[in-house]
Amino acid sequence: FDAHYEFTEIKDSFNYMAERLQTSEREREEAEKSKKRMIMDISHDLKTPITSITGYSKALCEGMALDEESRKKYLSYIYDKSIRMTRLIDDLFRFSKMEDSEFKLNKQPSDIVEFLREVIALNYGEIEVKEIELDINLPQEEIIYSFDKVELDRALTNIITNMVKYNPKGTEAFIELVEEEGIKIRIGDKGVGMSKDLKATVFDAFVRGESARKTDGGTGLGLAIAKKIVELHGGKIHLETEEGKGSNFTIELPI
Ligand code: ADP
Repeated sequence: FDAHYEFTEIKDSFNYMAERLQTSEREREEAEKSKKRMIMDISHDLKTPITSITGYSKALCEGMALDEESRKKYLSYIYDKSIRMTRLIDDLFRFSKMEDSEFKLNKQPSDIVEFLREVIALNYGEIEVKEIELDINLPQEEIIYSFDKVELDRALTNIITNMVKYNPKGTEAFIELVEEEGIKIRIGDKGVGMSKDLKATVFDAFVRGESARKTDGGTGLGLAIAKKIVELHGGKIHLETEEGKGSNFTIELPI
């Protein structure tokens, strides 16, 4: 009986090991696939502006822009596309730096309420231009918390600028901070919202909504970077969204 028992145990652990190996092989294949997909996305996103830059500069060199007005137009196209490439490369650089296990945050204790107030103030210009009706709800007292100011500012700014960029003029929105088993920062809007499909992958690199693709401004890395920053702080980011109803992001930072 003992021998049988031992045999079953050995068989079980053997099966377990085989399963683990298969899983890690599958994980490796998945990681390899997503790396390939990412390289293809990067190449595509860089290729598009480069093609325009090459085309317009060739036209300028060959004297195809005859009057001053068309020359200015071509040069401004080249300028816009170069800005887009710079933004893409900056985001990529930041994203891959954060993926590196060596990457360390520069956390310092500071008043997170005052910090959020400053982040909102820095983004207030575009919020006003878009006539967003922003409801701000912050605690009166200070809350000292240890966080990386530069990185958390980047994460919050990405979410706030998205709120402004993707919603129509006059959308209602709110930003609040509460102390509830740690710190919770909520940024929400009653704007266009997202489809179920988009919601499922929106924190992945290079994922952009249909209408966002048409505007050609972003890189699809904003939310991936925001998520990474929150996770590096030991926190989590949640999204509740429904098409036509709006989007609510919650950032949970641990105690
Ligand atoms: P990007 O802004 O460069 O496209 P992000 O990762 O920041 O990349 O956002 C991914 C996509 O999520 C956007 O393309 C947009 O479709 C959608 N999105 C983000 N925030 C909002 C929002 N507040 N309301 C509606 N859609 C949003």
